[in-house]
Amino acid sequence: MDGNAFFKIGYGLYVVTSQDAAGRDNGMICNAVVQVTAKPPRIAVAINKQNHSHDNILVTRRMNVCVLSEAAPFAIFERFGFKSGRDTNKFEGYGFTRGANGVAQLGDDVCNAVFELDVVDYLDYGTHGLFICDVAEARELSSVPTMTYAYYQDNVKPKAAAVTPAAPGEKRKWVCKICGYVYDPAENNGVDFEDLPADWTCPWCKHTKEDFEPVG
Ligand code: FE
Repeated sequence: MDGNAFFKIGYGLYVVTSQDAAGRDNGMICNAVVQVTAKPPRIAVAINKQNHSHDNILVTRRMNVCVLSEAAPFAIFERFGFKSGRDTNKFEGYGFTRGANGVAQLGDDVCNAVFELDVVDYLDYGTHGLFICDVAEARELSSVPTMTYAYYQDNVKPKAAAVTPAAPGEKRKWVCKICGYVYDPAENNGVDFEDLPADWTCPWCKHTKEDFEPVG
């Protein structure tokens, strides 16, 4: 199977916002959002079970999908994508509003639309949960084009060339082709990338070892 074929599927990029049972806000970067029916309007969202948002939404049964526009800077991906809401408040120091459902939503400076979703069905697909949702509310926020995954790779994500290869005598670094995370053995108790367990996943985007390439 040619893994590169999967990169040919067109994706948008979204911030999925939610709350836990205590009302604490969270948000995550997601690319697996698709409209499944028009009457009634329904949207499916696939979320990796390792994400804190997955557990939140299973309990509260609601989320907002904020459609990122090409105006969204890399800082948005750093804030919502490269850490876990389990141990940080991703909204700290960030100005935002709330939808009618009380869930956080991002503004027109980084988004071109927002959907307020109520979960009507949940399907367990092993690594991921698939949430089927009714659209309770939908708003267009701006006319800036949607941030596609390709646009992110070409124009937003810092180039991998910025990663400094390991010095002579040091263990090789590996970089995630999906999100740019750099695995440096020097920062991981000297463990070679090749010696990480087969089910090890990127701490930022949760993709597997197959999506990493060596630096230098
Ligand atoms: Fe990654």
